[in-house]
Amino acid sequence: MPNENVKRSTAATAFTEPQKSISSPVPNQSTPLVVNADRQGKPVIVAHNLHKLYQLGKTQVRALRGVSLEVFPGEFVSVRGPSGSGKSTFMNLIGCLDRPTQGTYMLVGKQVSELSIQELARVRNRLIGFVFQGFNLLSRASALSNVELPMIYGGIAKDVRLQRARQALKLVGLETRMDHKPSELSGGQQQRVAIARSLVNSPSLLLADEPTGNLDSRTSVEVMAILQALNQQGLTIVLVTHEPDIAAYTSRQISFRDGRLVRDEPVAQPRDAIAEWAVLSQQKPDDL
Ligand code: ADP
Repeated sequence: MPNENVKRSTAATAFTEPQKSISSPVPNQSTPLVVNADRQGKPVIVAHNLHKLYQLGKTQVRALRGVSLEVFPGEFVSVRGPSGSGKSTFMNLIGCLDRPTQGTYMLVGKQVSELSIQELARVRNRLIGFVFQGFNLLSRASALSNVELPMIYGGIAKDVRLQRARQALKLVGLETRMDHKPSELSGGQQQRVAIARSLVNSPSLLLADEPTGNLDSRTSVEVMAILQALNQQGLTIVLVTHEPDIAAYTSRQISFRDGRLVRDEPVAQPRDAIAEWAVLSQQKPDDL
């Protein structure tokens, strides 16, 4: 039962490492997958007055118009806003996939807004895990091989890769599915493989772009339960969603409109996906 696996993993994993810096070494077998969150610690994200201008022929599109935000270790933040409000542009900047036209961005204490494209790629691989709406798994590769992939890019030795990939799949409750290909897994299980893949380099930040967008409501709870369990272990998560029901599982909600951050509120009592999944996973499909 996936939820039990999550709980077992949560209990089994003691996290003692401090928040790592960009210069920290690549993970080894003993590096925990989820880096300890010191909630009083330095912010993971400090974005100051971010602007992004796109040039479309002779027209300039002001996609971001001065966005400032701090996210601290262990936060679970949802990002909402209508289409065209700047969410993707913002996520691209904080995910080190693009650079701002103006403004500064510090990730885990390090200024990254002026790094070269190659340096940004290195920062991404070391510090950020990505989860996408469409899972983005290699269809012919097993769950284990999919999860190994970011470590191949990171130049990590085969035995360490395998050990960490197995550990990550276990953490998301898929220890019995490691040799399955994506087509042999349910949607929720595929997203869990993608989450495991996002964890193998012990990221300081998980960015999830509509992670439940392709899933039915039951499976969405399953995926949110995994994310909540990881967050409870200390993982800092920023998640884009257009669904208020999904944002309700996070502990801080921010909203964009017209390239500006217009709302930033804590959630007094986030919905408990772990408890909801515990109930749902007991029910037979006919009961639903
Ligand atoms: P959202 O993710 O909230 O839908 P986006 O960040 O994708 O919003 O887009 C914000 C604005 O920037 C929109 O007006 C969009 O058309 C524009 N935009 C986004 N990407 C580009 C691009 N590569 N070139 C030109 N305009 C863009």
